Amino acid sequence: MSRHVVIVGAGPAGLAAASAALRAGAEVTLIDAADQAGGQYHRMPPDTYRPFRVLDRCDWWPESSVWSLERHDERRPPRVHVLTGPADGDGRRRRFLDPDALVLAPGAHDRTLPFPGWDLPGVFTAGAAQALVKGERVVVGDQVLVAGSGPFLLPVAASLLEAGTRVREVLEANPPRTVLRGWGRRPWELAAQPDKAAELAAYAARLARHRVPYRTGRAVIEARGDGRVEEAVTARLRADWSVVPGTERTLSVDAVSVTHGFTPQLELPVAAGCVLRDGFVLVDGDQATSSPGVYAAGEVTGIAGAPAARAEGLVAGWTAAGGPPSELRLTRRRRDRARAFGLRLAAAHPIGQGWPGWLRPDTVVCRCEETSYESLCRAASENPAARAVRLASRAGLGPCQARICGPTVAELSPESPDPHHRPIAQPIRLGELAARSEAAEKESTP
Ligand SMILES: Cc1cc2nc3c(=O)[nH]c(=O)nc-3n(C[C@H](O)[C@H](O)[C@H](O)COP(=O)(O)OP(=O)(O)OC[C@H]3O[C@@H](n4cnc5c(N)ncnc54)[C@H](O)[C@@H]3O)c2cc1C
Repeated sequence: MSRHVVIVGAGPAGLAAASAALRAGAEVTLIDAADQAGGQYHRMPPDTYRPFRVLDRCDWWPESSVWSLERHDERRPPRVHVLTGPADGDGRRRRFLDPDALVLAPGAHDRTLPFPGWDLPGVFTAGAAQALVKGERVVVGDQVLVAGSGPFLLPVAASLLEAGTRVREVLEANPPRTVLRGWGRRPWELAAQPDKAAELAAYAARLARHRVPYRTGRAVIEARGDGRVEEAVTARLRADWSVVPGTERTLSVDAVSVTHGFTPQLELPVAAGCVLRDGFVLVDGDQATSSPGVYAAGEVTGIAGAPAARAEGLVAGWTAAGGPPSELRLTRRRRDRARAFGLRLAAAHPIGQGWPGWLRPDTVVCRCEETSYESLCRAASENPAARAVRLASRAGLGPCQARICGPTVAELSPESPDPHHRPIAQPIRLGELAARSEAAEKESTP
């Protein structure tokens, strides 16, 4: 009898995992909270979207959120609890699956450091700005500053330009020395990633064609405006991201798009009992996690781009389905090269320790609960235990449950909070939670 592999996430990693698991003869259920497959990388307007062929060959569950993983037998993968239906609709179906193997590929979301005025309307995460342009053909402004750190700044600026926006500047916070040292180390590894190098060169050429300045060692440190962004203050930074006094400049803009890297979505791996290392899921050469029958692929194991996610997905899906390991030699090599690209990315675009110097006492740190920097520091000085800081300041206790402010709060408080432990991974209504489990069992599809 073929193995039943459940895959959570239909981004590059999950889609690759599904195709490999199908090829190895497994029965596959592919689940994604979005209504279309593709994840963050293949986000496209609906009229140009071409469904992936793999979806026809597996049990494809779009608009289906995995809200909980239940560990009922330590020798087997956890039970997968799913809610199917539009996120804000009623009448969602509650189902569960007991797979033979589980592949977790839930990806990452973008990280934004706070600065005075970052909560003004008109300040967007780069991911949101790009999603609006690519997914909805909506531009965030006419005069946009793109700032932060990492190569993601380039595709975001390119998408905005393509949509007719004027991109005033693109600012990379790290100085040229850090960027060049990170990318320049072990140059032969970069040569093994010609696609990525060509992609970056194409973005850079587009910026040059539109005469958009790309400046390194400079960041947006304040957004100002009456009710929405009207201007951005930028400043030159030292290598540790502390501001060089006297280098501030004011730019008039109607939107700011900002990103400081990506944060992996770890609540499902943590719920499955997977061991983490350096903030990512620890996997072996087969993409197996420390939890029996649970595999992980894509941005949850390290931020290394779509090719790495795809290669990891192929390995994870194949091994989860029980495919013979000998057939994966080339894919593993491709995966290892792509992962090496991720290490260079991290070295070239680190977050400097000096960024809290941008904050003022009244700067909002947790937007859901409107916790200011001052109240967070006060709570931490009274009782530095992570739980006490959270309860006293309310940072991380709002609707996003610390998905946005969690890493920031952890860096600003002396004792790091328990990362990503959320028994409920996706919003669920009390009525849905209270629904009788018998009904859920009847509806489950093995
Ligand atoms: C906002 C953003 C924009 C990006 N833009 C670019 C770009 O322009 N160019 C580029 O080269 N790289 C870009 N990247 C990086 C690139 O998207 C990633 O390298 C790649 O998509 C990682 O693939 P993945 O499969 O690991 O995750 P993703 O592509 O993020 O896919 C994860 C999927 O899991 C689903 N999911 C998560 N949790 C659940 C759950 N509980 N239940 C059900 N489904 C769930 C999500 O809906 C999503 O579809 C971007 C990343 C982000 C976060």
